[in-house]
Amino acid sequence: MSRIASVLLPMPLPEAFDYAEPEGMALAVGDQVAAPLGPRLLRGVVVALREGAGGNRPLKPVAERLDEPPLPPGTIAFVEWAARYAVDAPGGPLAIALRGARCPKPRPVKVVEPTGVQPARPTPARLKVIETAKATPMSPADLARAAGVSSGVVKGLVEEGVLAVRLVEAVARFDEPDLSRRGSELNPSQAAAAEALKAMLAEGGYKAALLDGVTGSGKTEVYLEAAAAALASDPAAQVLILLPEIALTQAVIGRVAARFGAGPGEWHSDVAPPARRRVWEAVATGRCRIVVGARSALFLPFRNLRLIVVDEEHDSSFKQEEGFIYHARDLAVVRGKIENAAVVLASATPSLESLRNAETGRYRWLRLSARHGIARLPDIELIDLRQTPPEPGRWLSPPLVAAMRETLDRGEQTLLFLNRRGYAPLVLCRACGERMTAPDTDSWLVEHRYSGRLVCHLTGFSMPKPQACPHCGAKDSLVSIGPGVERVEEEARLLFPDARVAVFSSDTVFDAREARRLVESMAAGEIDILVATQAAAKGHNFPKLTLVGVVDADLGLRGGDLRAAERTYQLLAQATGRAGRRDRPGKALLQTYAPDHAVMQALAAQDRDAFVSAEMEERAFAKLPPFGRLAAVIASGTDPGQLDAFVRAMAEAAPNAEGVEVYGPADAPLGLVRGRRRKRFLVRADRNVDLSAYMATWRARVRPPASVRVAIDIDPYSFL
Ligand code: ADP
Repeated sequence: MSRIASVLLPMPLPEAFDYAEPEGMALAVGDQVAAPLGPRLLRGVVVALREGAGGNRPLKPVAERLDEPPLPPGTIAFVEWAARYAVDAPGGPLAIALRGARCPKPRPVKVVEPTGVQPARPTPARLKVIETAKATPMSPADLARAAGVSSGVVKGLVEEGVLAVRLVEAVARFDEPDLSRRGSELNPSQAAAAEALKAMLAEGGYKAALLDGVTGSGKTEVYLEAAAAALASDPAAQVLILLPEIALTQAVIGRVAARFGAGPGEWHSDVAPPARRRVWEAVATGRCRIVVGARSALFLPFRNLRLIVVDEEHDSSFKQEEGFIYHARDLAVVRGKIENAAVVLASATPSLESLRNAETGRYRWLRLSARHGIARLPDIELIDLRQTPPEPGRWLSPPLVAAMRETLDRGEQTLLFLNRRGYAPLVLCRACGERMTAPDTDSWLVEHRYSGRLVCHLTGFSMPKPQACPHCGAKDSLVSIGPGVERVEEEARLLFPDARVAVFSSDTVFDAREARRLVESMAAGEIDILVATQAAAKGHNFPKLTLVGVVDADLGLRGGDLRAAERTYQLLAQATGRAGRRDRPGKALLQTYAPDHAVMQALAAQDRDAFVSAEMEERAFAKLPPFGRLAAVIASGTDPGQLDAFVRAMAEAAPNAEGVEVYGPADAPLGLVRGRRRKRFLVRADRNVDLSAYMATWRARVRPPASVRVAIDIDPYSFL
């Protein structure tokens, strides 16, 4: 009896395709195969097998079963769930799950082995080399080092035929975590939280907890204890720790290595392809037991995942907005359910979604309300810029400058936080008023002085800063408006010429190595003033950092969307939370034009609970998340007429359903991106509505013309 294999391909296809299983191939679900699609052979995964001989068309046979680790059932179920949830083709999440498998294999390595031929001159050095090589085959260089001889000795033996060089596949070693090591001595509230997590793990099955602890309370210490317990529960158990930023993965990798005497698998966009391939394979075969990574690590082929930690769970970087759209925190909970694993969401400023789940008992709520040891939370003061403005053309107000001077005099460090890359967010012509915008996108060009270019932060478009206004031709008329980190750095250097000033933003810190270097040099006290975007404002511990100055506390509140206040609160609480660790008390100063705003008041009073309950009340009243659900439709097109007609037809096709409201179509705030006009719908639904199913039904009713693209964003975070 022949069989039919359903093969999922990493392509935007609506479902798995059927192929015939060739005689003797003995496929199993999860196998990676090469399957023909049109003229091409594609890597895919067998997701189902059934007896039978073809349907209504002749089936092409699977071309080959690849000699690769299979995708475990949990990973396949997760990919399928994620696609359904996101109202997208399963090929999208499958492509993420196979990303590591599709990376090139590391190049084979040379090893030398004794051939049995006796050396002509058996000197002690040569005999030592032969003996060492007999024990473990290794590279010529390693062998010379291990035997304590020069590389010439090894080379001579190879030439003589005593040793032979062989190419072998490089197998990555991931050392077993050493579970006999002990972590830090926990303080009583940390110990209570760790015990609760261990109890949760011991019960087994899916469970979720919110580890809600102020900055510096030791959340990392606590979840590393939970990781130890998970790893100890089963010799094959695996643990995943997700972080929102590459810079943060570096710090946690170091702590995992220190705790378990073994480095974790590292997974993020900055890991080189052969190294990714190694991690992917080691996760799929169970050799890698701890992974620390960014959001896409959630799609790795874990075989026995017992614990997922989402650190800084409130962070909006967990939301992937392009390609396959998903929120890694939400999907982590789903993956936990599928794998019967425990999930720990950790934050000092949890999202309202997670707080609501904790309030209603869906998550265990574990609170750490004080910093570890004698460290205190910083005092937070507001600087009313209406009362004490900076000098014209400057951005740092007199009280902030005075505090910086005192901090420098004490030999301590200052962090100036401004969540804006580049030198100036806007360049305009003094003569005609023209604002420099990107040619095919509705966004201002940001001036970058380091590179001398004007850059569109949305699309990456850039051009040299022109000498004359492109609109009216006036010479030297372009002026920079407003500050970015580069401009604040310039001001700090002017004010404090002897201070060591550095900038931390994604333009100055472009890879993981550079991030680690800068974090280390800050921690070592080699920088006096660090001007940073959010890249450095989260998670890190800098013992000598005692002053945090927030240059523009109001920035995130402008143009406010649903989460503007929540996000501003989180970002500023995180940034100010960098101040004062260990034995040095810290202070944070927030420059604001709106000191009476609820967010500023809550920050100054350090009253998160009051802020959260006021914000919850508003959301509940409007039935917005976490009390209702949202989805967005973004239609974009190159032909304005066709786009208009399409969104009108789409509006008419919206299904009627109880507890669902559809708003739009409306011009998107970002009306033009990369030459495509954009329109949006927003859908609000009650919590009990299956919003994905609603959106899928709607989407199936319309057929966009070739010039129009439709993207569906479930639980949107961006409303642009
Ligand atoms: P969080 O993740 O809550 O911000 P961390 O786990 O990073 O906190 O802890 C903050 C600092 O305090 C770190 O330097 C950490 O090593 C230290 N620390 C926390 N708990 C302990 C403990 N029980 N023993 C020793 N040091 C601790």
